[in-house]
Amino acid sequence: AKEQGRNNVQFFTAAMNAAAAERMTLETELRTALDEQQFVLHYQPQVETQSQQLCAVEALIRWQHPTRGLVPPMRFIPIAEETGMIEAIGAWVLDEACRQLAEWRQAGMRVSRMAVNLSACQLRSPNLIAQVQATLKRHRLDRGDLELEITETTAMANPEHAIAQLHGLRESGVLLAIDDFGTGYSSLAYLKRLPIQTLKLDRSFVRDIETDPNDAAISAATLALAHSMGLKVVAEGVETEGQRHFLATHRCDVLQGYMFGKPEPAEIWLARWQAAAAQ
Ligand code: C2E
Ligand code: CA
Ligand code: CA
Ligand code: CA
Repeated sequence: AKEQGRNNVQFFTAAMNAAAAERMTLETELRTALDEQQFVLHYQPQVETQSQQLCAVEALIRWQHPTRGLVPPMRFIPIAEETGMIEAIGAWVLDEACRQLAEWRQAGMRVSRMAVNLSACQLRSPNLIAQVQATLKRHRLDRGDLELEITETTAMANPEHAIAQLHGLRESGVLLAIDDFGTGYSSLAYLKRLPIQTLKLDRSFVRDIETDPNDAAISAATLALAHSMGLKVVAEGVETEGQRHFLATHRCDVLQGYMFGKPEPAEIWLARWQAAAAQ
């Protein structure tokens, strides 16, 4: 048994070293990824619950790694946050998403707004508001064209500072959404002080909304609360007709999930729109 224990320890240490080495490799490669234009944005539709019309798209970053293929954000965004690289990556995402919205509109596509995820580092940055204003101006976007999504945890990290930053963004004409709502611990008193327009109900509640009475209760309560505060609700991760039906019954405003479309590259959006327009 002792021998086996030692083997386990050795195995564990080797696995840890491999994970640490892998992380360092990723970190090094991440440093060149921006310069080499290895990032790409995919766009996922958000639809109005009643009409099922497209009302917004969310930009989601992917890393087109020369050998690893498409790396999902969960593999590299945390590293980018820890190393500070997220500042540059986040600035690129913001610019690229706004540029894309302007380009689509020029091509005649109707997309009413672009949603972009903002990291904790970006929210802390003293340059954020000026950067957002400059980006909107560069691409000639108007008030209401851009929605920034901030996770509940990010908004809670330094509440007073977050509130000040969000007010600045709001005054610049940006719409604000709280992402992954329900996974953090924000108090109602605090939520009331945030100048937000939208809550995004986390996918973890939507998944079992039909079968788990707790998830159903939390979702229904979130919808009622949000509406009573004058906020819109976007449900994440809607995959089935049953989920859609529950959310529609509880007057969820906007739906997002594989049922309505997976995140896809800009070219596919344009091609689909052109095909539809040609009919
Ligand atoms: P998120 O902002 O909560 O984005 C939703 C995630 O759920 C996306 O994963 C999306 O592809 C996935 N999803 C959407 N609909 C469904 C569905 O019906 N079923 C399932 N199973 N999944 C669905 P993705 O693209 O891998 O992004 C993961 C997270 O990475 C995002 O979560 C966000 O926190 C972060 N992220 C993505 N892009 C960016 C970015 O540009 N900047 C920052 N700071 N974070 C980003
Ligand atoms: Ca999001
Ligand atoms: Ca989310
Ligand atoms: Ca999430």
